[in-house]
Amino acid sequence: MEIIHVSAECYPVAKVGGLGDVVGALPKYQNKLGHIAKVVMPMYLTKYLYEHQFEVVHKGSFGMGPYHLDYTVIKEVTNHNGFDLYLVDIFGLLDRENVYSYDDDTFRFLSFQIAVTDWISHWRHHPDVVHVHDHHTALIPFMMQNCFDYRHLAPIKTVLTIHNAQYQGWMGWDMAQNIPSWDQWKWGLLDWDKNINSLACGIKCASKVNTVSNGYLEELMRSANGLEFLFNLERQKCYGIVNGIDTEVWNPTLDSYIESNFEEDTIEAGKLANKQILCNQFNLDINKPLIVFIGRLVEDKGADLLPAGISDSIIYMQGKMNFLVLGSGNKNIESSLDSMSHHYFGYYNSRIGYNEKLAHQMYAGADFLLMPSRVEPCGLNQLYALAYGTMPMVRRTGGLKDTVKDIGEEGGFGICFNDTTVGEICHAVYRAINIFDEQKSFALIRKRMLAIDHSWEKSAEIYLNLYKS
Ligand code: ADP
Repeated sequence: MEIIHVSAECYPVAKVGGLGDVVGALPKYQNKLGHIAKVVMPMYLTKYLYEHQFEVVHKGSFGMGPYHLDYTVIKEVTNHNGFDLYLVDIFGLLDRENVYSYDDDTFRFLSFQIAVTDWISHWRHHPDVVHVHDHHTALIPFMMQNCFDYRHLAPIKTVLTIHNAQYQGWMGWDMAQNIPSWDQWKWGLLDWDKNINSLACGIKCASKVNTVSNGYLEELMRSANGLEFLFNLERQKCYGIVNGIDTEVWNPTLDSYIESNFEEDTIEAGKLANKQILCNQFNLDINKPLIVFIGRLVEDKGADLLPAGISDSIIYMQGKMNFLVLGSGNKNIESSLDSMSHHYFGYYNSRIGYNEKLAHQMYAGADFLLMPSRVEPCGLNQLYALAYGTMPMVRRTGGLKDTVKDIGEEGGFGICFNDTTVGEICHAVYRAINIFDEQKSFALIRKRMLAIDHSWEKSAEIYLNLYKS
């Protein structure tokens, strides 16, 4: 089977969050299963672009409202990541340093989607599946079926994976003029609540839709930022497939980002050595449980509650623990977390920003990983934590509910709580301190975590079955 993944992110080329991790791993595992999976993404000006060799494979152009845009598709010369990688260059629009956060993002990603559809329309053969990810690429199934120039692509099956339904790619109807000449009778496919809604359109037009966990799919049926009715209408073609982890990247035995590699037999010494490095670097105490947070500093992740959750825990539990936070996002949250480092010197520290290496070191050296998320479609952090023997402390929501079992249950290996509140965070911290104090049983639970299989092999098979269906 030939599968074309279209995405705004792909690790290690450009990653902002879990979307990048998934698109950087799933195609590799699909290739390992004997299929041909390729990735197409925008050509951003990232380090990766300059450090790898590319060749031009296609040049084309298309009209976008009053504009005439030229695009170039380049392909990485070696199959460096385990799949063929194609980058789409549109001068002045996609060739930027960051993935998102530009005022013209709507126009940028629309142009990317048109270029990809146009390019595929020039192929002499049809791929079996075009697999689009999130709202940035969700208009492609519509264009393949309803733009007059691309209608010969209509028989190709499409899959939309929703990594996060909070962001939907809304745009005003004035943008409709930028979509290449399309069948105006089909306006209802683009529309949701009097706007063009890319994600809603993808849900309506894709052959199959999936979210990145079953728990999240169930939640979307009740609450989906305005799309719950649509999810209920289309539920027959919606599935939940939990993400895997790329064990070539997230593996304590092989990880080149960490100082001390370890496996099941050497986990205690290995984790301690990595913890020592973190504690030295951030002025923390190796004898106390180290609780970390890694992620986007946004309300969905419960990051707004971190300052109070951390300070209350330190004060009320007499500093019996240490905290370390790595993240970026909301400026107010960033500045409170940053300024707290002075107040709680020796108990708490933070690194505001994005740092892939430090993230690996934290998964390896920490004792606990806190995720008080309000919304968590799958969550990869807790899976990485488990792979490195770090106990996840999670709010029961979406994928966290599906992948973490509380230690109070038989075979459990995590700390789970029901609400995103400061009180619940403090209670989870209290439980963490007690678990840490029982070193012998904690060591056994760590081994249990390492034995859990969250590799992509299983989920990659499930995706293939979805394509076949
Ligand atoms: P989301 O995609 O909603 O941000 P996920 O849990 O699916 O959340 O994926 C988050 C990914 O991004 C993980 O690989 C995590 O380690 C990484 N990550 C998030 N913030 C940072 C950061 N500040 N520095 C390094 N890695 C980060």
